[in-house]
Amino acid sequence: MNSTENKLKIKDLTRSELQSYIIGLGAKKYRADQIFNWLYNNLSEDFDSMQNIPKELRQLLNEKSIISTLRKINQDNSTGTLTRKFLFETIDGKKIESVLIPDNDRNTLCISTQVGCPLDCKFCATGLMGYTRNLSAGEILDQYLSTAKEYGKEKITNIVYMGMGEPLINYEATEKSLRLLTDEMNEGITRNRITVSTAGIPKRIIDLANTDMRVKLAFSLHSCFEDIRSKIMPINKKYSLAENLKALQYYANKTKTKITFEYTMLKGLNDREEDIRALAKLTSQLHSKINIIPFNSIKHMDPDGISGELEPTPLDKIYRFAEKLRERKVTVLIRDTQGDDIAAACGQLAIKN
Ligand code: SAH
Repeated sequence: MNSTENKLKIKDLTRSELQSYIIGLGAKKYRADQIFNWLYNNLSEDFDSMQNIPKELRQLLNEKSIISTLRKINQDNSTGTLTRKFLFETIDGKKIESVLIPDNDRNTLCISTQVGCPLDCKFCATGLMGYTRNLSAGEILDQYLSTAKEYGKEKITNIVYMGMGEPLINYEATEKSLRLLTDEMNEGITRNRITVSTAGIPKRIIDLANTDMRVKLAFSLHSCFEDIRSKIMPINKKYSLAENLKALQYYANKTKTKITFEYTMLKGLNDREEDIRALAKLTSQLHSKINIIPFNSIKHMDPDGISGELEPTPLDKIYRFAEKLRERKVTVLIRDTQGDDIAAACGQLAIKN
């Protein structure tokens, strides 16, 4: 390990942890807020640019800690759309991806929480690359801060935790990153423009509800039937849909937010008449909406087993499916698939590490 790897990643600290740290270095508490302001509002990447911080403190911070945890090593620009995919490298040489998706006056940044993913969902390319490690809070945040530095902080209007990995398995770092993003001193994105997406870890859904940060929660549903869901999402065998729905109910009530059900449409598996009935029933029980995602095939990756057999539901059938749900008073959105020419669309993020 080199010395940089041993240094403290200062963005792994929440503001109150930063205060304790700064006091521990012998400086006054208010210095922590000044540093916080440099890091998160001025997007400062070196301590020497922090002009109102005494030189001795800057020197100490330089010796003991680092600011930037990621280096952008590649960018792909989609031709049909303005979608951009960024490849970042961590200090220990691991690679992760983030995607910037412009849509009218909204720019959504999709960020990763793990290097790879342990869940092995059968429709997702990230699952095929396996799992390497959790990202730290600073590494999660730096995907945003580095992109904000390049494009302007005001240009990124929304953040979705929908890149590589399962945020609620990496709960501690995810929660910390959210705490930093929603900190009252952090200018920019507000809690209602942050969405955490999960395949469903009930205990962690409840923990997140209890933090009172009230960010939006999206749940990767994909089927209302336990057996089908288990087939395409092995995690369902451990944490059933029934158990997750209870936790989601708690989340919706506690945070007074609407749950988004993500629903990737798979031919013959979840696009049947009985799926419409089941979805209508399920969504009537909870303050929610459905976000339909056309399935982005992962066949080019030549996967084995069920992954290799999955087919997208044709678009015209998706429209009819959505219409029938609307007739049953369900709120449905069909997500625009952007960036599949650069493998930046949902479920296409995968890299060899
Ligand atoms: N682990 C988290 C976040 C990552 S996935 C979760 O499961 O929610 C983000 C969204 O993309 C999920 O709803 C996921 O189901 C969807 N997705 C994954 N693979 C896809 C694919 N090949 N086509 C379309 N959507 C996909």
